[in-house]
Amino acid sequence: MNELEQQLGYPLADALPALGTTLTVAPGVRWLRMDLPFQLNHINLWLLRDVQDGVQGWSIVDCGITNDATRAAWEQIFANELQGLPVLRVIVTHMHPDHMGLAHWLTERWKVRLWISATDFNTARLASSATTSFGGEGTARFMASHGLIDPEAQAKIKARTNYYASMVPQVPTSYRRLLDGDVLSIDGKAWRCHAGYGHAPEHMSLHCAELGVLISGDMVLPRISTNVSVHEVEPESNPLVLYLDSIKRMKALPEDTLVLPSHGRPFTGLHTRVEQLVAHHDERFAEVLAACAVAPQHAADLLMVLFKRKLDLHQTTFAMGESVAHLHALWLAGRLVRQLGKDGIYRFSAA
Ligand SMILES: [Zn+2]
Repeated sequence: MNELEQQLGYPLADALPALGTTLTVAPGVRWLRMDLPFQLNHINLWLLRDVQDGVQGWSIVDCGITNDATRAAWEQIFANELQGLPVLRVIVTHMHPDHMGLAHWLTERWKVRLWISATDFNTARLASSATTSFGGEGTARFMASHGLIDPEAQAKIKARTNYYASMVPQVPTSYRRLLDGDVLSIDGKAWRCHAGYGHAPEHMSLHCAELGVLISGDMVLPRISTNVSVHEVEPESNPLVLYLDSIKRMKALPEDTLVLPSHGRPFTGLHTRVEQLVAHHDERFAEVLAACAVAPQHAADLLMVLFKRKLDLHQTTFAMGESVAHLHALWLAGRLVRQLGKDGIYRFSAA
């Protein structure tokens, strides 16, 4: 446990649900984990005891990635953990592959509705049917405009044309829309939707005041900072400011809330964690400003400043998006100026 994590509470201590089993974390709320084939090697999913249209059963929150192992783990859960009751709906916090991957399979398997924000539903539909989302020529051009011109990296990014669809081959064709402030009745308890921006197009966290539980999705994680990236589809975006504004709004929820994050362990200390994340990004902003005061910098220049270690290509593409996000927050606030060089690369210097 690192120094910052020690400021948080872990009421379940080291307990983890084994693959294919669940652990009750609050009345009617069960925690399960699925493996992921990344450095971030697991995702937390949730089962909520529910009643819909007079039928007893369960709501699923988030799905896991599309592969045989995850489908097999779900079948084990269905056989052993549902008390013979059906799944009634599939709620997805946001469109990323680890959350959305098996939504199509789960909704078909149980003939139930997907519940998700409209922005994430439509973005997932497009990304799943496109051949170039999160890779390909467009991404390569965007990365080059921020200084990632290494030929090997460029070639690999151009070749990565099936990234999202490989993990989310299909998206349900219909859905029920979640909006900020919507209140879902789950087993007679009110769960309020909290929209969050900057990580995904329109991420939904779910809060139940009666249980004192927040399903935070990827917006607030206990150990790692949430990925906040500029992507080529919206190359002048300012996601870090959107993200920081979103998590600051979560401080309106009680500090003793049990936070159920998508990665890591359930924790208490929501306000503390939000303050830690704000401080983390403030430190990164200071480092970027200091570097840009010495000489104009592009996003690739700043990878070492921001991440302080050598990154592989997969990490580099994520890190580039984050580096641009820090630059944009400062540029769009008027603290840096942006210039386009004759080499086609954007560089940022002190305003
Ligand atoms: Zn995510």
